[in-house]
Amino acid sequence: MNNVNTEISILNERLAFKINMALLSIHIGLLIAFTFIWAPIMVIMNLFSVAIYLTLFKVIQKNLVLYLFVTFVEILAHMIVATICLGWECGFQLYSFAVVPIVFHCYNLAKRTGLMKLNLTPMIISIIVCFFAARIHNFFFEPIYHLSDYAASTIIYSINSFIVFAFLVVYLSLHSSMEYNIEELLHRTAEFDALTGLANRFRIHEVFERLTDSSSDKSEEFSVAIMDIDNFKNVNDTYGHMVGDKVLKMVADILKSVENDQVHTSRWGGEEFLVVVSGTKSLDTATALLELIRINVSKGVVKEAGKDIQITISTGIALHNVEESILATIGRADTYLYEAKMSGKNKVITNDKYLNPIN
Ligand code: GH3
Ligand code: MG
Ligand code: MG
Repeated sequence: MNNVNTEISILNERLAFKINMALLSIHIGLLIAFTFIWAPIMVIMNLFSVAIYLTLFKVIQKNLVLYLFVTFVEILAHMIVATICLGWECGFQLYSFAVVPIVFHCYNLAKRTGLMKLNLTPMIISIIVCFFAARIHNFFFEPIYHLSDYAASTIIYSINSFIVFAFLVVYLSLHSSMEYNIEELLHRTAEFDALTGLANRFRIHEVFERLTDSSSDKSEEFSVAIMDIDNFKNVNDTYGHMVGDKVLKMVADILKSVENDQVHTSRWGGEEFLVVVSGTKSLDTATALLELIRINVSKGVVKEAGKDIQITISTGIALHNVEESILATIGRADTYLYEAKMSGKNKVITNDKYLNPIN
């Protein structure tokens, strides 16, 4: 699970990095513009903002919530100062709309990571208060810098509208693509075993559901094999858990190599694997395939500290009977596995006959 959290943090950091680049570029642009029209307070304000965004590159890696919170405060402060300096007509108040997605992102991240305690309502209220405070101030007071003509303020208004619109589009598209990637990641984590990369129980149950769905064209005959590593406890006890993990991965790689549309493999739990083979004469196919897997596993070698570690596996296979539940089929495969263990291990056992083929 830790790996998942790390991957989610990396995705968030990448988004924050791009947003910070965009905000830094906007403020450098504004710095040049304010120097050009000579509005000293705004020049100082933007010098300050550029310094903040340069520093924030370091904060992104340490505390992403703090990063977003500082961004939220800076944009609001800049909006108020710019509106006081240049008036409502220049449209700097529009930047308060740009902070709305930042606030939600910041709040959700704080909740998910526990990095900071934040309350959403005061943040939203402060955006509204700042917006109307700037409006009221402009109603009672003249702007500090008077632009020479109406055209100048219209141009600045248009540029500001464009920046805010572009920022919102970029932010929201980057954010939704990040959310999509996180969803994919969580989906993978929920359905695949982290150590071996094989399907887990949840995913293999989807295969069972498909194969037993009588309303679907895909319902077909299938056999279930349960495979268990022989004397695996000895491997762990002799060479350690890490080597045990390597052995599990070696077996998983062999299983992955035989997967196709009719062969589905999974880690059933611990050192047990479940293989589903579908299609006509699935029991014959499964028996031949599991025998091949048994041979390949017994030939496989895990190297550790100059030693070659070799293992064997035992397997029980049962043909699914249309009148029984999946659990009953698995139970029968387990019984055959038990027989394989009791009769010396390193073998494949099935006593099923083709009594219920689906035509
Ligand atoms: P048998 O031939 O009867 O199957 O004997 P066994 O030793 O394989 O079976 P047993 O059930 O006694 O031991 C299974 C061991 O598998 C015990 C457990 O610590 C180990 N194991 C389960 N999951 C993992 C894992 O993810 N990694 C490692 N390294 N070991 C695991
Ligand atoms: Mg076992
Ligand atoms: Mg075992």
